[in-house]
Amino acid sequence: MPEQPESLQPTLKKKCPDCPPLVVPRRGYTPTRPSCIDCVEKHLGAALVLLTETREGYAYRLRAIGHLFEAEDESQEWPEFHAAIRAARKAYQADGTLPDWDTLATCAHERRTALANEAPADPTTVS
Ligand SMILES: [Zn+2]
Repeated sequence: MPEQPESLQPTLKKKCPDCPPLVVPRRGYTPTRPSCIDCVEKHLGAALVLLTETREGYAYRLRAIGHLFEAEDESQEWPEFHAAIRAARKAYQADGTLPDWDTLATCAHERRTALANEAPADPTTVS
């Protein structure tokens, strides 16, 4: 059996420098991890690549589902976006329906625009 290509080997997750350091509780609900638009876009992009390539196979399906789940997990602070990604993942798992990439891209763009318009973090609270 040939050695696995390096990309299939488990690697330590690289930390995204833009991920917020802490989970921010919102309205009485605490996400299980910080939300990061960069990571959400990265995982949606990875899922898009996997699902729009003509390659077939169960491994691709699992990887695509995994990326959609990561995007879902990293978008918990934004309920509508989170719900849209979750619905896309569940539809794909249920019957292979491909996500509506335009809708997800629009959501991501809106979120990024909203984040850019938010006031920058107070420098005295940044460690
Ligand atoms: Zn990130």
